[in-house]
Amino acid sequence: MDRRPGFWKFMSAHPPRPPEPAPRISTKQWSIDDFEIGKPLGKGKFGRVYLAREIKSKYVVALKVIFKQQIEKYRLHHQLRREMEIQTDLRHPNVLRLFGWFHDATRIFLILEYAHGGELYKELSKSHRFSERQAATYIASLAQALAYCHGKHVIHRDIKPENLLLDHEGRLKIADFGWSVQSESKRRTMCGTLDYLAPEMVENKEHDYSVDNWTLGVLCYEFLYGVPPFEAESQRDTFRRIMKVDLSFPSKPAVSTEAKNLISQLLVKDSSKRLSLQKIMEHPWIVQNADPMGSCSKLHNTNPFSN
Ligand code: AMP
Repeated sequence: MDRRPGFWKFMSAHPPRPPEPAPRISTKQWSIDDFEIGKPLGKGKFGRVYLAREIKSKYVVALKVIFKQQIEKYRLHHQLRREMEIQTDLRHPNVLRLFGWFHDATRIFLILEYAHGGELYKELSKSHRFSERQAATYIASLAQALAYCHGKHVIHRDIKPENLLLDHEGRLKIADFGWSVQSESKRRTMCGTLDYLAPEMVENKEHDYSVDNWTLGVLCYEFLYGVPPFEAESQRDTFRRIMKVDLSFPSKPAVSTEAKNLISQLLVKDSSKRLSLQKIMEHPWIVQNADPMGSCSKLHNTNPFSN
């Protein structure tokens, strides 16, 4: 009899899907020996992410390594399982693909699409703020990706610049789905920033899809002004500002009236009155500024293993 806890049984019972295009190995159980490991790409709360290449297909991926001990310590089995189920099912150009997973005695490995451009957050820190064209392109990409996710009954609830990655063409990719599903938990709310959360979420009230629409308003503001709209010295002050929707538009930098109009229609306390994702995509500021290809900058698509 298989006496392993349910989670590990689940992992074995669901062979990971192969990186595309690599259909020849669809039923294969992956192991670390199938990958060449490259440079570290970053460090998250539960492990590290490495550049990797599947040896046979030469397909480049990002391999996220999570320590089982951490998952057990924080009792996150269900959340991780949900992340994997949700993200594996999502297929959208602006949603980071999860190709599959495997595990060994101590670690879980997630085989992720590689986002060559890295974190959007770093781009924003470098340039302080984005042009209206860039901001509108990112907001349009986010609105399209979220419309797709909401259509599949997935609410992200944790959209923030750190969870947004860029591919080699500067196209935005939403990452970190599973953790967002557990983002209601008090622990997460108290540890993380409140800046991107809708009033009903900071108050721990019931909420629906429109929490993501609020967050698009916060991001649009931050993309254009370089700081989130309700930033304050303390979490308590941010909380107060969010609850009052204490929104103001500084005179500098100069931002178009149309952009401010869009932000004002998203940062609305009554969640039923927030602009819908469809209306965001039809908003004149988006229509006039967003690049229909969703690409803001072309990065060189060099072989990452050659560095
Ligand atoms: P995470 O554990 O998901 O927070 O990831 C830690 C860091 O690794 C991120 O902040 C990114 O800089 C990097 N990273 C994660 N996933 C990817 C990916 N798919 N492609 C490129 N870099 C990534």
